[in-house]
Amino acid sequence: MSAQMLDGKSLAKNREQQLKASVERLTGQGGRKPALATILVGDDPSSATYVQMKVNACERVGMGSQSIVLPIDTTTEQLLLEIKRLNNDPAVNGILLQHPVPEQINERACFDAIALEKDVDGVTTQGFGRMAMGEKAFGSATPAGIMTLLKHYNVEMEGKHAVVVGRSPILGKPMAAMLLNANATVTVCHSRTVDLAQQVKQADIVIGAVGQPELIKAQWIKDGAVVIDAGYHAGGIGDIEKHGLENRVKAMTPVPGGVGPMTINALISQTLESAQLANL
Ligand code: NAP
Repeated sequence: MSAQMLDGKSLAKNREQQLKASVERLTGQGGRKPALATILVGDDPSSATYVQMKVNACERVGMGSQSIVLPIDTTTEQLLLEIKRLNNDPAVNGILLQHPVPEQINERACFDAIALEKDVDGVTTQGFGRMAMGEKAFGSATPAGIMTLLKHYNVEMEGKHAVVVGRSPILGKPMAAMLLNANATVTVCHSRTVDLAQQVKQADIVIGAVGQPELIKAQWIKDGAVVIDAGYHAGGIGDIEKHGLENRVKAMTPVPGGVGPMTINALISQTLESAQLANL
């Protein structure tokens, strides 16, 4: 068996063409140009790069952006004020608060201060709850991008056993909820899971979302499984060891070029949707 590559890079590129056409249509009909506001607190170079990639994607599809950079010693109150200002700015359709924020900030309070209709990164408690209940809401961008990738490649989820390794609020937990909503049978693993190998061996679909290079071993993954790796580490490796998998799994994401581009695509796609709703 030769694994099908779930090519997020080319899918995101194609979808950007569609987004660009939709933005042109919206503005051509007199609608305001959609815009994403990004907030970066501090000067972490990786976070700055991620934010820049999102701003670049906005530009590619003809959307506007506002980049807000706050000093590393910003307080929760100061950040909340900034979020409130953006909530009230009609020129802003989506708000992205880059995670992680410096430790003196109450990140949850700041995420939850984002207006639901502008929560295009799907980080608010309310948005998560609505999504988990199957109600209309913007999903957390990374799992939403993964779902788009799975659907595009016709990966069957209904009745399949999905094992999600990781339970973070932005990735593992919403991923599990989305797979459950797609009628998969879902197991969620984390740092206290006993015998991770045994859990992963049961999986028809494995989602690696642990943030540790190759923590999930190739030999744990059963033949014919679908392998989704959200991790990206120095040397171009992910959270899942890939040795030999390309010859025995059904489908897998490349690292890089799998999940990353789909995350950004989900974010800008949801920003456009927010703008379309605001223009109704
Ligand atoms: P995170 O907040 O650090 O969460 C990591 C999760 O992994 C936690 O739930 C943790 O369990 C679990 N874990 C840690 N060690 C484990 C172990 N030995 N066995 C089983 N589970 C273990 O990370 P995150 O933000 O969700 O990110 C996860 C990965 O996805 C990272 O590689 C990150 O870079 C990547 N990511 C990619 C994108 C993208 O756009 N491509 C976006 C976001 C994240 P506990 O809850 O018990 O601590």
